[in-house]
Amino acid sequence: MTTAQKILCVLYDDPVDGYPSTYARDGIPSLTSYPGGQSMPSPGKIDFVPGELLGSVSGELGLRKFVEGLGHNLVITSDKDGVDSTFERELIDADVVISQPFWPAYLTADRIKKSRNLKLAITAGIGSDHVDLQSAIDNNITVCEVTYCNSISVAEHAVMQILALVRDYIPQYRLVVEGRWDIADAVSRSYDIEGMSVGVVAAGRIGLAVLKRMYPFDVSLHYTDRHRLTIEQEDELGLTFHPDVESLVKACDVVSIHCPLHPETEHLFDEKLISKMRRGSYIVNTARGKICDKNAVAKALETGQLAGYAGDVWFPQPAPTDHIWRTMPNHAMTPHTSGTSLSAQARYAAGVREILENWFNGNRIRDEYLIVQGGHLAGTGAHSYSEGDTTGGSDEAAKFNR
Ligand code: NDP
Repeated sequence: MTTAQKILCVLYDDPVDGYPSTYARDGIPSLTSYPGGQSMPSPGKIDFVPGELLGSVSGELGLRKFVEGLGHNLVITSDKDGVDSTFERELIDADVVISQPFWPAYLTADRIKKSRNLKLAITAGIGSDHVDLQSAIDNNITVCEVTYCNSISVAEHAVMQILALVRDYIPQYRLVVEGRWDIADAVSRSYDIEGMSVGVVAAGRIGLAVLKRMYPFDVSLHYTDRHRLTIEQEDELGLTFHPDVESLVKACDVVSIHCPLHPETEHLFDEKLISKMRRGSYIVNTARGKICDKNAVAKALETGQLAGYAGDVWFPQPAPTDHIWRTMPNHAMTPHTSGTSLSAQARYAAGVREILENWFNGNRIRDEYLIVQGGHLAGTGAHSYSEGDTTGGSDEAAKFNR
C-alpha cells in the first residue's frame, strides 16, 4: 500500500458574482494534438466537464475524487500570501504543491526550507518562475509544468492586445458605453498595423504562434531568441532574426515578449532598453511582469516614448491596488487571464492529473513537462530556463486588498 500524501493546491478565488450554473457555450472544441505534434495531456481518466470553471477554489482542477479515491489528502486554498496564510501553514507537511501562475503561490527559498516533506511542485499552466528554482535544485524537489497547455491561448491574447493597442480599441469602446459619438477623439491615436514591423522576444511555442498569427496582417516580422529557428521556418514567415534584443527593438514598431522569466530576463526591458526603441513603440507582455521594469514602462508612456503597453502579467500577483500599471496612460492591461480561458483550464487540469497519476504510480513524468529534477534543470527546463531565483519581492503580494 502506498503512503498517503498531502497535496496542497492553491487556486484563485471563486467568482465574486457566484459560481456559474450555466456557460456561454455548450462545450469546447476537442483538439487531437498541439502544433508540432506534441500529444495532448493523457490522463487515464478525468472527473470534470471540459469547458467548465476548474481553476478557482470550487473547481478544484477536477482533482478531489481522484486524489481522495487513492487515499491521499487534498487541501485547496486561495489564501497564499504572508506568514499567517493557509498556504504557509499547510506547506509545512505537504508532499506536493500545485499552483497556477495566475494566482501564484510563491515558493521562496524560505518556504522551501520550512516544508520538510515537499518533493514535487506542479505548475498548473506554464511558467515556474514563482518557484525558487535554485532552491528546488538544491533541495532535490521536482518542478514541472503542463507544457503547451495554454501556449495558443496566450498567443491569441497577445494578438488581440497588439491590435487593441495599435487600433486604440479600449478608449473607443469606452466612448460608446458613455453614449458619445466623438469620432475625432476616437481616432486621434488609432493606426493601421499593415506595413508596421512587429517583433517577438523569444520564438518558442507562444512567440512562434504569435508570428504565425500576425503574418496575414502584411507586417514585417522579426524575432530574437537564444536558439535560431530553422531556415524553412524563417522563410515561411519572412522572418528577420536579430542576435540580441537591442537590435530587435530598434527595428520594430511593436514588440511582443514571450521568453520565460529567469535571471537572464529579469528587468530586461529597463529604461535604457526602452530608450532605444522607436518613439511611439508598443510593448505587449504576456510573459511575466518582472521582465519589464514597471516604473520605466510607466514613465515611457508618460513621455510618449511608448505609445502603448498591454499584457496580462504583473509582479507581484495579485497586483496591489496602487500598482502603477493600473493607472498609467495608454495601457490595455488585463489581469493574468490569457492562459486561463475555460479552454486552457480543461487542458491544464488534465495535464496535472496526468502528472499526478504518474507520480503516485512511480512512473516517469514526461520530459516535456519537467523543469527541475534530480538536482538539475531538466527536460523543457534545461532548454528554456537558467539556474537562479526570480521570486525576490514576492512578499509584496500580501499587500493586496480587495
Ligand atoms: P517555450 O519554452 O516554448 O519558449 C520560450 C522561449 O524563450 C524559448 O525559445 C527560449 O529559448 C526563449 N528564451 C529563453 N531565454 C531567453 C532570452 N534570454 N532571450 C531570448 N529568448 C529566450 O515557452 P512558451 O512559449 O510556451 O512560454 C513562454 C513563457 O510565456 C512562459 O515561460 C511563461 O512565462 C509565459 N506564459 C504566460 C502565460 C500567461 O497566462 N500569460 C501562460 C503560459 C506561458 P531556447 O529554448 O531556444 O533557449
